Amino acid sequence: MKGTVTIITGAAQGIGRAIAELVADKGGDVAIFDVIDGSGVCDTIRSKGRRCELYTVDVSDSQTVQAAVDQVVKDLGKIDNLVNNAGITADKLLLRMKDEDWDRVMAVNLRSVFNCTKAVVRHMLRSGGSIVNISSIAGVMGNAGQANYAASKAGIIGFTKSVAREYAERSIRVNAVAPGFIRTKMTDALDEKAKESMHAAIPLKRLGEPEDVANVVYFLLSKYGSYVTGEVINVNGGLYM
Ligand code: NAP
Repeated sequence: MKGTVTIITGAAQGIGRAIAELVADKGGDVAIFDVIDGSGVCDTIRSKGRRCELYTVDVSDSQTVQAAVDQVVKDLGKIDNLVNNAGITADKLLLRMKDEDWDRVMAVNLRSVFNCTKAVVRHMLRSGGSIVNISSIAGVMGNAGQANYAASKAGIIGFTKSVAREYAERSIRVNAVAPGFIRTKMTDALDEKAKESMHAAIPLKRLGEPEDVANVVYFLLSKYGSYVTGEVINVNGGLYM
């Protein structure tokens, strides 16, 4: 990753943070788009001798995203990779789900992927690049209580395959990663009983760590994934296979 610039959304914590730190460990520079303060991540990355810039960006807003992408090119010189990782949940059974629950989840999880990808692709047309979109096991197999979230994550998969086909001839690879249950703030919200039944259902008998997902994202960003595009890689301990 030496000499590369990677934008990672939602990287102030959780899975995005693990991806940012691994990219920096491998020699890459990082730009973080998040709505919360990611200065802790950038301090860690700079202590590794890599460049890191923070941008306060609501990825659901196309104009803010476009301005931030232009600023990354001014600050760091170019864009080689993008990881669309920012995401939220607003879980409810269908009959209780409000229009706002649907619209916000679709905007933050799916429209954001359109916004960020469209804004970076024009900077990748000459030299190629790698884009990784974070989907979810819910987008692959569905999940009761998550119709909005699952629809947004399934949408990411269709988007990934379409854009992979559109830009393959420009050497821009586009892939998705579908994590299962990973230990972050998002899953901390689950009660103990839910976590126990999750453990029992996962063949590898543990929740995933953010680093488990980061390793696969790194593979796709790096030269090791150079002949992989339009793919969805499950990282779920065998929960869905
Ligand atoms: P997380 O710990 O909540 O981190 C996500 C980050 O994105 C947070 O800093 C969050 O800020 C930020 N964010 C939220 N809305 C944003 C917006 N509009 N613009 C920019 N940043 C925004 O989540 P995570 O568990 O690491 O999940 C990362 C990705 O993996 C998500 O796409 C998620 O759907 C997916 N995923 C997670 C799991 C899991 O088990 N954890 C499983 C499958 C897929 P706030 O804290 O303010 O919201």
